[in-house]
Amino acid sequence: MSRPLAALFAAAILSAPVLAQTISEGAQVTAEDYRRQGQAELARLKAARPVTGRAKNVIIFIGDGMGVSTLTAARIYEGQKLGRDGESFVTAMDSLSYAALVKTYSHDTQVADSAPTASAILGGVKLRNGVIGLGPEALENDCAGSKGKDVPTIFDFAQSTGRATGVITTARITHATPAAAYAHTPQRDWEASVPDGAQACLDIGRQLVEGPVGSKLEVILGGGRSYMMPTTMADPEYPDVKGKRTDGRDLTAAWAAAHPTGHYVWNAVDFAKLDPASPGKIMGLFEPDHMRYEADRAGDKAGEPSLALMTRTAIRKLSANKKGYVLLIEGGRIDHGHHAGNARRALEDAVALDHAVHAALQTVNLKDTLVLVTSDHSHTLVMSGYPIRGNPILGVVRNVDGTLAKGDDGKAYTTLGYTNGPGAVTVPRPDPATLDTTALAYKQQALVPLSSETHGGEDVAVRASGPGAYLFRGTIEQHSIFHIVKAAMTAK
Ligand SMILES: [Zn+2]
Repeated sequence: MSRPLAALFAAAILSAPVLAQTISEGAQVTAEDYRRQGQAELARLKAARPVTGRAKNVIIFIGDGMGVSTLTAARIYEGQKLGRDGESFVTAMDSLSYAALVKTYSHDTQVADSAPTASAILGGVKLRNGVIGLGPEALENDCAGSKGKDVPTIFDFAQSTGRATGVITTARITHATPAAAYAHTPQRDWEASVPDGAQACLDIGRQLVEGPVGSKLEVILGGGRSYMMPTTMADPEYPDVKGKRTDGRDLTAAWAAAHPTGHYVWNAVDFAKLDPASPGKIMGLFEPDHMRYEADRAGDKAGEPSLALMTRTAIRKLSANKKGYVLLIEGGRIDHGHHAGNARRALEDAVALDHAVHAALQTVNLKDTLVLVTSDHSHTLVMSGYPIRGNPILGVVRNVDGTLAKGDDGKAYTTLGYTNGPGAVTVPRPDPATLDTTALAYKQQALVPLSSETHGGEDVAVRASGPGAYLFRGTIEQHSIFHIVKAAMTAK
C-alpha cells in the first residue's frame, strides 16, 4: 500500500469506525464525537494532494447496475456482515480520493443498457442501446450500416502504447460490458452467432479470439464457455450442457492454438495452480454461462475463483509488462440480482466487487496506477422508510422506538424495494413481517409487475485514486471517462 493511501485508510479508520464502535457498544455518542469525525474527514481532504504524473497502469472497475442506492445498501450490508456499524462503515470504494456524478443516458434513450454505457466509458462517445463499440450513427441490428463506424477504445490505445491488457468479469466474457473492451457490433446479443443477412459481422466470441484487441489480451477471465464451443461439444463441468456455436468452431482450442504458451483453465483448482510470473497469456472460463452469483459460488461443482483472486492474479500477470497495463474488472452479476428483484444476491456481488477493489488497492502503487470504480447504469432499487440506525438493511423497517413501521394497509414494509420487477405485489399485499426478508432468494416488493426489473436512469458515481484521479469531479458525461483516462495515460 502506498503512503498516501495508508494515510487515507488510517484517517478513515480513525474517523467513522471509531464512532461506529462507540455506537455498537451502546455508549453515549455526543455532539463532540461527530465534530471530531467531521474534523478528521476535513483534515484528510485538506491533506490530499492530486497525483498529476502519468498513469502507467489503469484499473477500471465497473459494477454493472451498481447505482448510488446500491452503493449505500452494499456499504451497510458489508459493515453489518462484519458486525460493525453499517451506516458509517467505510468500504474500499469509499476510500478512493475523488468522485464525480456521471450522466448515463445513451444516444437514443434516457435509460440505457450496458452496451452503450460500457462503450461510452471505454470508447469516449455515446451510442445507441444494444450497440457495442460503434458511433451513434450505427443503428441496432444493422450490420451493413455498421461498417466503417468502429470506435477505438482505451484498449486499442493501451495496446498501441505497448501496454498489456486484460478483461475480467463474473458474467459471460462475451456479455455487453466485457465485449465493449474488444468488440464492435450493432447487436450485443450476437455473442456466439450472427443472424442470416449479417454474415459480414463477426460474432463477439470470434472477435474475442480473432479481433485486433481480443487476440492481444493477456488476461481473459469470466464465464461464457458455451459461447466459445460448438453445439456438438459437451461442457467439461456439466456433460449435459452443449456448446452454443452453430458454426462448428471451438474457440477455446483456436485461442490455445494461436497462443502456444498460453494457459486455458476452466475450474478453480487449475486456476489456483497458475503462476502469474510464468510467461504466456491466460484464458479462464469458469461456467458455460455467467459465473455463479457470489452467494452461490461455494456450491459450484468445479469451483470458481473469487473476483478478488482473479483481480490479484491479473495484476501480477500484467505487471510484468514494463510499459504498464490496462485492466477492466466487471462485477457483472450485481445487475442480474437486481433484474431478479433479489437485492441480497445483488448486494453480495457488490461486496465481492468491493473486496476486489480492496485487493487491487493492496497490490498497486497509486503513484503510477489510476484506479477507478464506476457503474454503467443504475437500477430501480430504493432505500426508504425511516428505519432505526443499525436496522438490518435487508429487514423490515423498524421505527426509532423499535416498533414495526406499517403502511396504510396495516402491514410492514422493507427498507429496500424496487419500482418494478418480479417482486411486484398483488392485492392484498403480502405482509413482509410474516416472511424472512433476509433470505437469500427473497424478492423485494415492487410496484409495476415485470418479469425482469429494469435499469434506472439517474446518475451513477465514478470514484478514483492515482494519477489523473483529481480530474473526476463535478458532474460529467459518461463518455468523458475515456478522455480523462487517456489524458492520465499520456500525462508527462
Ligand atoms: Zn442489466
